Amino acid sequence: MTYYIDPLLVTISESTFNYITLAWIALAVILFPFLLKITPPYGRYSNATWGPMINNKLSWFFMEIPSFAIILWYFWNTTNYENKIVIVAFLLWIIHYFNRAFIFPLRLRTKSKKMPLAIMLSGAFFNIMNAGLNGYWLAFLAPEHSGDLLDSPRFIIGITIFTGGFLINQFHDTILIHLRRFNTGYKVPVGGLFKHVSCPNYLGEIIQWSGFAIICWSLPALSFAIWTFVNLVPRALSHHKWYNEKFEHYPKERKAVFPFIL
Ligand code: NDP
Repeated sequence: MTYYIDPLLVTISESTFNYITLAWIALAVILFPFLLKITPPYGRYSNATWGPMINNKLSWFFMEIPSFAIILWYFWNTTNYENKIVIVAFLLWIIHYFNRAFIFPLRLRTKSKKMPLAIMLSGAFFNIMNAGLNGYWLAFLAPEHSGDLLDSPRFIIGITIFTGGFLINQFHDTILIHLRRFNTGYKVPVGGLFKHVSCPNYLGEIIQWSGFAIICWSLPALSFAIWTFVNLVPRALSHHKWYNEKFEHYPKERKAVFPFIL
């Protein structure tokens, strides 16, 4: 049996690694019905019922920084530099989480807003698990691939989907952040895919990590796509309901997250 030595000094067999990842996926599936009923109280639902609160921007930083740091650690310690797919996957992750940990919190216009510490800690735990599994797989378990990137149709499809999702997410996050330009409250967002759905930024994020799963074709990358769906679809349904209740003339044809479907 092959054992891999992790730089964090964890020694684990590939089959054990796969069982841990499957259990992680099972947890997402179990949580899904609960998230459809309970909306985590951050953002527009923020309140102190989940215990002590922490500054919103700081919370985003501490939630997301583990993902950035852990992947950098694996990128530094891998010997898989021949595998261009692995290198690109690492770089995509680093770009995404550099934005999410450092730039996104600075762009938010939520000055005095707070988030429950419990949400920050659960977000950080998710990111540690997610980056730990994906980083370990990319660094030590990815099958060899020495060919050119453009020789792999799966890579081309995956990177196209990833890039499309990333742009959709960024574009619509930017529209939402700009709605707070004059430090006012919530408005009905318009432009881009808001014509069709209430949460195109979530749609973009789901597309993005589905593309990543196609690029990597690994169990951990699949788990990330599933977790993103499980986290964001219930939240999009809550946002959609909230918009319809708050704004009398909210566009009736708008769906929550998937145009014309849901
Ligand atoms: P939201 O869409 O709820 O909010 C994004 C920002 O825009 C917040 O600052 C919010 O303010 C503001 N905003 C939203 N709607 C309006 C409006 N109608 N009028 C004025 N301001 C508005 O996104 P989240 O905060 O839930 O998520 C942020 C990013 O993180 C997204 O890109 C999302 O895809 C990603 N994410 C990814 C997850 C994953 O599992 N991969 C999980 C969670 C988030 P306020 O906070 O005050 O509501």
